[in-house]
Amino acid sequence: MIPSILPTYNRAPLNFVKGEGCWLIEEDGRRFLDMGSGIAVTLLGHSNPILIEALTRQANALWHVSNLYQVAGQQSLADQLVDATFADTAFFTNSGTEACELAIKMARKYWFDQGDADRIEVVAFEGCFHGRSTAAIAASGAEKMVKGFGPVLEGFTQVPFADHDALRAAVSDRTAAIIVEPVQGEGGIMPLPDVCLKGLRDLCDETGALLIFDEVQCGMGRTGRLFAHEWAGVTPDIMMVAKGIGGGFPLGAVLATEDAASGMTAGTHGSTYGGNPLAMSVGNAVMQTVANEAFLAEVSRKAGALRQKLEGLVATHPDVFESVRGAGLMIGIKCKALNMDVVNAGYDAGVITIPAADNVIRLLPALTITDDDIAEALTRLDQAATALKA
Ligand SMILES: *Cc1c(COP(=O)(O)O)cnc(C)c1O
Repeated sequence: MIPSILPTYNRAPLNFVKGEGCWLIEEDGRRFLDMGSGIAVTLLGHSNPILIEALTRQANALWHVSNLYQVAGQQSLADQLVDATFADTAFFTNSGTEACELAIKMARKYWFDQGDADRIEVVAFEGCFHGRSTAAIAASGAEKMVKGFGPVLEGFTQVPFADHDALRAAVSDRTAAIIVEPVQGEGGIMPLPDVCLKGLRDLCDETGALLIFDEVQCGMGRTGRLFAHEWAGVTPDIMMVAKGIGGGFPLGAVLATEDAASGMTAGTHGSTYGGNPLAMSVGNAVMQTVANEAFLAEVSRKAGALRQKLEGLVATHPDVFESVRGAGLMIGIKCKALNMDVVNAGYDAGVITIPAADNVIRLLPALTITDDDIAEALTRLDQAATALKA
C-alpha cells in the first residue's frame, strides 16, 4: 500500500523536533550537530533570534496580500539585492526550481523580443542540478531525472563539466543562454575554476548568449563572498538565488540586468506566493546580516579552520576518505567507503552530513557555526570514520 506521504524520498529514521544554532534535537533529547543545514538552507542557524523576531513581527501584522498590490518588504529586499550585486532588478519566487523556470523564460523572451524567436537553446553542464520542474530536468538531461516523464523539453544540451572546447562547440547562434552553477552542489561540490567562469563570460560576450548563474546553493555568503562568482571577478546576466536567502522560510529570487530582463513586462510572468510578506520579512533580515564584510570575513576564517581540520581527518582515515574540495563553507569530502555508509555512521555519531554525486558527503553548515561546533564536528566525524573501519 502506498504510504500517505508520496514515497519519493528514502528518509532516515530521524525525528527532529527542535533546532538551536547548529544543533538538531530529537524528542528524547538526543542532539545532532547539523552540518547540512537542510541542504544549505538554514544559513543563520536554527531558531535564530533575529529571524524569529522578523517573522513574528510580520506574522502579527499581515501574512499575505497578492502581487496585485504593493507588498511590504519586496522593495527593500530588491533594493538590497540590486545594491549588492550586478543586478538591476529582482523577481521573488518560493524556490530554486521556480527561479530556474523564470531564468530560462527570461532568456528566451529576451531573444524573442530581439526578433530572434528561434534562439531558444540553453547549454548546461553535465552533473548540474537546477531543480525538478520540466525545464530544470531538461537542463540536467540526466537519465535518472528525465526518464519516464515524457518528451524532454526542447532546446537543452549538456557539455562535460569545465570542458571549454566542448562548450565552445555547443554554442551557436541559436544559443539563448548558458546556465551554470559556479560551484556544483548536488553534482558533488565541484567548484568551476575562475578561469572557466571568465572564459564563460568571454564566450557569452562574443556570441551574445546570456549567462545564467545558478547560485541557489553556493550563493548568499556560503563561499565567503556574498555570491560565489565574485571570486572570479565576472558577472552573469541572470542569476538564480534560493535556499539560504530564506534562512529556512521558502524563498527564492531571480536577479537580472535591465537588458536581460527587458522582455519581462507586465503579464509575462507571475506567482501567487512569490514575495509574500512573511518570506520578505525573513529575506530582508537574512540579507541585512549576510551582506556585511565583517560577517563574510568570519565565514572565510571559519571555512579555513574547518577545511584544515578536515584535511587532517582525511589523512587519519585514508581508507574511509579520499580528499576534500569545495569553497568556503561549501565542502565536499570524496569518500572511499560508500558515501551513504559514511552519512549513516555520522547519524550514529550524532553528526548530520549530506550525500552528493561522485561518492561525496557534503558539509554545508550554518554560516554562524562556532569554533566549538567546528571542533565537535571533527570529533564526531572522526568517531564515525573509526566506527566504519571496525
Ligand atoms: C536546490 C537547488 C535547486 C532547486 O531548488 P528548490 O528550492 O529545491 O526548488 C536549484 N539549483 C541548485 C544549484 C540547487 O542546489
